[in-house]
Amino acid sequence: MLDRASESRKDRAWVQQQWERQHCRVFVLRHDKSLMRWRDRDADQPEVVHVAQTEVLELAPEIDQLVFLGLDDSGPMFALDVSHHHDDRLAAFVSDSEFIDLRDVGWLLDKQQAAQLAYARGLLFWNRSHRYCGICGSPTRSENGGHMRRCSNSDCGRMHFPRTDPAVIMLVEDHSNPSAPRCLLARNSRFPSRMMSTLAGFVDPLESLEETVAREVYEECGIRVGNIEYQASQPWPFPSSIMLGFRAQAETLDIKVDGVEIEEAYWFGVEQLRDFGEWGDGGQNFSLPRRDSIARYLVESWIAENS
Ligand SMILES: [Zn+2]
Repeated sequence: MLDRASESRKDRAWVQQQWERQHCRVFVLRHDKSLMRWRDRDADQPEVVHVAQTEVLELAPEIDQLVFLGLDDSGPMFALDVSHHHDDRLAAFVSDSEFIDLRDVGWLLDKQQAAQLAYARGLLFWNRSHRYCGICGSPTRSENGGHMRRCSNSDCGRMHFPRTDPAVIMLVEDHSNPSAPRCLLARNSRFPSRMMSTLAGFVDPLESLEETVAREVYEECGIRVGNIEYQASQPWPFPSSIMLGFRAQAETLDIKVDGVEIEEAYWFGVEQLRDFGEWGDGGQNFSLPRRDSIARYLVESWIAENS
């Protein structure tokens, strides 16, 4: 479990002390991709590379260029963004490793490691995209171990904090025939062909989460829903969202896909879902969402409850 030390990290001297500790480890990221190596390429087993603090000193002489992630049983953990470093300076520790997109391999990693990498990616992305003040346009400076940026213009001085964009994701169920419950799954035009998933969408300003669920389901599939209940959440650092998972009851059943975002949508019973293939298996059947997604959790918990 990672202790984010959210109070201690406000003290710059304390963060510097953590950086100088012997067992300090650093995640290295470049353009949102994380440094990893393949343990066994045939088995598709990626391994996160923790670089020792001494190895990156040459690349990051200033604490301001790092973000502090937290402390675990092995010591402090930082992340370093090398998006603007030249290849030749990186070559030394990239030799048997490569920069890999977490989105492509996250489901193959240990859950805790994937969560730490997602956190590093999200925080570095925020720092990289908030180098200037949104109020007065002056450069900002990193504080709180990279968890806040303050405008350098003393007449402004605005503090900027990382933002999270809420998105809802929902499994719509139909219990009109109690002996044959069904759930609504759809294929977004951005999905791999054959993959079916739950509906999802971003929360509009000043909209409640329940209103977003009802609006998105109606806009994408023409179904009216009620009895909307929260289930679980998942941070989604692509680039800075949190997916809030719901279940909703269908009040109407005729599907009318929008044809833009959603290409096809159907009602599926438990037995049909059991015949679905695995994400990325290349088979001819419909497939389930990837194993590390909240969509998969929503579908699997629905199957378990209705079996
Ligand atoms: Zn400013």
